[in-house]
Amino acid sequence: MKNMFASKILKNIPQLLSMSGDVDSSLVQIIEEIKHTLDLNNVALYYLSEEQAYLKVPEQDSYFCNFALKQDTLEKLESEDYVLVSLLNESNTNDSFYLFPLKIRQATFGFICVLAEKEFDDELLNALKALTAVASYAIKDSELSNVFKIQLKALQSSIVDKTQAVNTIKEQNEKILEADKAKNEFIANISHELRTPLNAIIGFSEVLGSKIFGELNDKQAEYINDIYTSGVHLLGMINEILDISKLESNAMKINYTEFHIDTAIGEVLSVMKPLADKKSINIKFDNKVTNMVKLDYQKTQQIFYNLVSNAIKFTPENGEINISSTTKDKFIELSVQDSGVGIPKSAQEKIFDKFVQLENTYTKTGSSTGLGLTITKRFVEMMNGTIRLESEEGKGANFIMNFPMEQNNA
Ligand code: ADP
Repeated sequence: MKNMFASKILKNIPQLLSMSGDVDSSLVQIIEEIKHTLDLNNVALYYLSEEQAYLKVPEQDSYFCNFALKQDTLEKLESEDYVLVSLLNESNTNDSFYLFPLKIRQATFGFICVLAEKEFDDELLNALKALTAVASYAIKDSELSNVFKIQLKALQSSIVDKTQAVNTIKEQNEKILEADKAKNEFIANISHELRTPLNAIIGFSEVLGSKIFGELNDKQAEYINDIYTSGVHLLGMINEILDISKLESNAMKINYTEFHIDTAIGEVLSVMKPLADKKSINIKFDNKVTNMVKLDYQKTQQIFYNLVSNAIKFTPENGEINISSTTKDKFIELSVQDSGVGIPKSAQEKIFDKFVQLENTYTKTGSSTGLGLTITKRFVEMMNGTIRLESEEGKGANFIMNFPMEQNNA
């Protein structure tokens, strides 16, 4: 008899421990297992809450029902292996019940209740104790996995929330883009409006400076010259802001024409020469492109204007600027190289970003926008070209552009 119980229990423990599925069906399995293994008819499983015992398995039964536990029974359930009680409730007058506590680490969370239909010998009691202990872990294990399931569900619902969040962000982004477009249009308009009076300032100060309307004394000539140069400078900055806002609202159009590259660059250099002369900077232009190129004339000139004016600005007196145009495979390579302060490696990646101005002796005056290279790069890319920088700090900078010879313009 002894051995029979022991071997049956041993055989069934793995099965009890590997229960899966929902907790309630696991509890039914446990009770069925106990009944079957130990040949008992009336076995129930209770959960404890405060002093109340709640019947979990079976759901309804003539013997078993919810009931309030006496204090001493509760205490015994905490400390003993089992408790023998008579009377679960008023209806079960003559019956006695064994209660085997379901525990995890000393905490009793329920018990298995067995009708004492016969006298329980030690062996049976031990078998029940062993099975209850195993059941305790099996129940907690299965409840734990339930907790995981709940957590998983919560996680899934938070994923749903995330999708909603992503959608909200998308909507917000669309609104921001719209607002940004409106802002760019506004800036484009206001820049345009600013140019009209500024052109008057530049035009009239130039006329006065030319002395057509009479002689000027030294102070007048000096001030007229200041008004003129400041006006031109301001116009340059407004033009850059106008360009970037046009670019950002996709309002910038490209207009391809065929022209000789040396004509376009030559015109820019004749405008820039007086500035270079002031610093005794020598500009050399080496053109090896004899064929016509197909690019946007005005944008190409502006690219050179930006690069050459930077080269002049960031090169000390008596420096050198070398401009070259050549063909390489199916590309036209154009470059502007100077012998100036150069750009440190750490800054080379961000140099084309909006409003980037590096700290050096030439940028301290602070009268520029930091948009020149941004616009330059965008113009280059609009014409299907690439621009890269080769530079070492203190050793000058070289901006190299490549444009495909054949433009597939629309
Ligand atoms: P801006 O000249 O209006 O400040 P840019 O976008 O043209 O703006 O240039 C950004 C910054 O890049 C400049 O402030 C300067 O620090 C650096 N930079 C541009 N060109 C050169 C150059 N040829 N040599 C050294 N630094 C340069």
